[in-house]
Amino acid sequence: MRTRDLRTAALAFFVSTGAAAIGGEPSPWYRRTLLGIEVGPTGSQFGSDPSDVGYAARFNGREVVRRCVEADAEYVVIWARDGEYAYYDSKVVAKCPGLDNRDVLRETVDEAARHGLPVIAYCVVQQGGRYLAEHPEFAMRAADGAAIPGRFCLNSGYLETLKALTGEMLAYGIDGFHVDMLDQGFGTPYGCWCDACRKLFEAEYGSAPPSGPTWDESWDRMLAFRYETSRRFERELYRHVKDLKPEATVDFNYHGNPPFSFEVGQRPVQHGGNGDFLTGETGVWGFSTLGVGLNAEFYRAATPGRPFQVAIQRGVRMYHDQTTRPLNDIRWELSTLLAHGAFVTMVDKTGYDGALDPVAYRRIGEAFREARAGQADLAGTPVRDVGIYFSSRTRDWYGREKPARAFRAFQGAHRALVLEHIPWGVALDENATAESLAAFPVVILPNVAVLSDEEVARFRAYVEAGGRLIVTGWTGVLGWRGEPREDSSMEGLIGGRLVRRLDEEDVHMRFPGDATPPMIDGLEPDWPFLVEGPAVVYEATTAVPVGRLHAPHRTVRQKQGKEGTLWPMSAGEAVGPAVLIHDVGRGRVLTFAGSPDAATAGEHPIVEARKLLANAVRLLHPSPRVRVSAPTFVELVVTDEPSSRTLRVHLIAGAPSPTTTPPANRPFVIPGLIEDAPTYRARIVLDAPPRLARAGKPASIVTLDAAGVSAVVDDIHDVIVIEY
Ligand SMILES: [Zn+2]
Repeated sequence: MRTRDLRTAALAFFVSTGAAAIGGEPSPWYRRTLLGIEVGPTGSQFGSDPSDVGYAARFNGREVVRRCVEADAEYVVIWARDGEYAYYDSKVVAKCPGLDNRDVLRETVDEAARHGLPVIAYCVVQQGGRYLAEHPEFAMRAADGAAIPGRFCLNSGYLETLKALTGEMLAYGIDGFHVDMLDQGFGTPYGCWCDACRKLFEAEYGSAPPSGPTWDESWDRMLAFRYETSRRFERELYRHVKDLKPEATVDFNYHGNPPFSFEVGQRPVQHGGNGDFLTGETGVWGFSTLGVGLNAEFYRAATPGRPFQVAIQRGVRMYHDQTTRPLNDIRWELSTLLAHGAFVTMVDKTGYDGALDPVAYRRIGEAFREARAGQADLAGTPVRDVGIYFSSRTRDWYGREKPARAFRAFQGAHRALVLEHIPWGVALDENATAESLAAFPVVILPNVAVLSDEEVARFRAYVEAGGRLIVTGWTGVLGWRGEPREDSSMEGLIGGRLVRRLDEEDVHMRFPGDATPPMIDGLEPDWPFLVEGPAVVYEATTAVPVGRLHAPHRTVRQKQGKEGTLWPMSAGEAVGPAVLIHDVGRGRVLTFAGSPDAATAGEHPIVEARKLLANAVRLLHPSPRVRVSAPTFVELVVTDEPSSRTLRVHLIAGAPSPTTTPPANRPFVIPGLIEDAPTYRARIVLDAPPRLARAGKPASIVTLDAAGVSAVVDDIHDVIVIEY
């Protein structure tokens, strides 16, 4: 899974002491490190008064490096510039007044040199702050011409400021930059309609920009213009840094994955690969517990074959709170990310005065040391049964300004696969090829409403060559700009005709007791159950129909429009088949007329909907290489190392503590912290008898038999190593 191998790890010693690696150039720092720490101050994230000299007064680069070394970090990311200040002697932007004559970047570089620790400068682009107030000519502007608070226009000439800043910092001898916040905003008003952008737009398209989000051809151009704006800014800054110091790295904080959408100005692939590697974030506060693994795999898919970095934080809620997570909570997130192939940066924010919390570093150090001790078991490439397809075009033109509509089925498919222990990966519309799809025995299209002819042709080639496709909900039933279609672009593959889209989402499915196994495994026969999500009525043509789709009852008041339909109603009449199964070439297409994936991420996430999706995978792919049963709170990552004939089954158990009614935003509950290391049983069945098996942790018990391995696991993370 990780591209690094043991040989590279062995070379790291020579590289980190300054010598060139044997036989060529030293590998860059990000190819030989696993764990780092980012440190920045707390107190100016919402602005700062220049007279506030207590702020960051004790923020000290030497102390930061010493603590990072104690915690076994392999690199340090130090805040050099945020929205308000520079934390070094800058001639371009104001320096943090509390530092007086100290220079945190100088202190960091000097101390890090003593330890052979790479130093990465954190440098912010957006966040408004003081510099924007002093330079209103760089402001991003909304369609009505008004300046958008806190946002720079990336076409305004502000790039020159970033070039000057990065030039100053490179002179300190740093090893690279983490460039944060390249968003174009996280909501309305959208930008940018400044004079520079208007001119550029007209030069590119020969017409004026649209009057706003018109969701027509003109807005299509505006989206492309915004994406290109972000890409150009990233590439030009990258080129500038490389011109000054070719070995310095540049990585951009990434906002191409859900829940981010077009407003940010990034597409998954277009903006993933503009630096040396991609960096993303997985805080549970913003992305959920499942977002940890999902984000990691999304980053991998956006930049195939390249390392990717994930930032996590030590605080329990958000970066700047001065709280420290329990050790097991940190261990859970860290082991999830490492198993999914990331390298990880722990973000620490100092107290107001810049002081560091010794308890945080003790816990981080403990988690880091354990992770490094288990580094050899991060070898191998992922074994994946299912690729979850993500379409940025569907995000933009079906999701539009309510992108959760497009994300729900994608996230629900992911949730179902994790809970059912079916190994999965992510496939992206921008870089999918016949070859990359063929790496997945099954590909699921979760409500991919907008599909190009080219994509449909690619899916056909995939299936004809033996691939198996799961199609759900509104897949293929909208046009290129989200307009309703008369037919489905997938009809030839589905083996059915689109009769109509349903407006209702509270649909039910019912399966007869004699339906093809394993389609009804774990389901009650002839029992309609809610599958809440987008649905369509199909008429089978060449496919075999299975089960029935039921539209919901509607009361008279609902029909009169006097009563909403937000909450589900019971099952009404059957309107079409629930499932169509269609053999195409050497492969097979299984189509749901509804959305068990969206249901699994919805407000009524019943187990049956999830089982339905898992059963479909098992029907299409009956003999996977590895089949695991374990409690739902266990996440699974399987890797294969063919050279040593070794399978590694990572089991990560995240059982958050129960939570109570939140004081605000009921019922949006943040999961409780993970305190316990649970004990549980897991069963691993292989397609061929294993030769040997062992657990990574001494407390786990592993038993080998002819069909597989049984394990009793007693920790947050363990890896069952199986030789075949
Ligand atoms: Zn502009």
